[in-house]
Amino acid sequence: MAYKITDECISCGACEAECKNEAISEGETIYVINPDKCTECVGIAASSRCAEVCPIDNCCIPDPDRKETKKQLLEKWRKLHPGEEPVPGTY
Ligand code: SF4
Ligand code: SF4
Repeated sequence: MAYKITDECISCGACEAECKNEAISEGETIYVINPDKCTECVGIAASSRCAEVCPIDNCCIPDPDRKETKKQLLEKWRKLHPGEEPVPGTY
């Protein structure tokens, strides 16, 4: 399930550097997540880095409209990082 950023975002930018999929960018009013690049941190970390560093509660949240299995998320990660191996314990 790709993550999304809610309107609570204060545009601090902390999440952008944490996303190793480069899924996060500054939008017109708030930061935004590209769902085609968000793997829910599968392949990267044991939990979602953006949600961990965000100073606002419930600002980076799973998008219920984008349900994906761990297998699908790992496939997405592999397409984004050809030739690399996912971090053990993250998928
Ligand atoms: S959950 Fe992980 S992959 Fe998705 S946007 Fe946040 S940091 Fe990036
Ligand atoms: S860390 Fe949270 S508040 Fe800061 S830009 Fe990212 S989503 Fe917005």
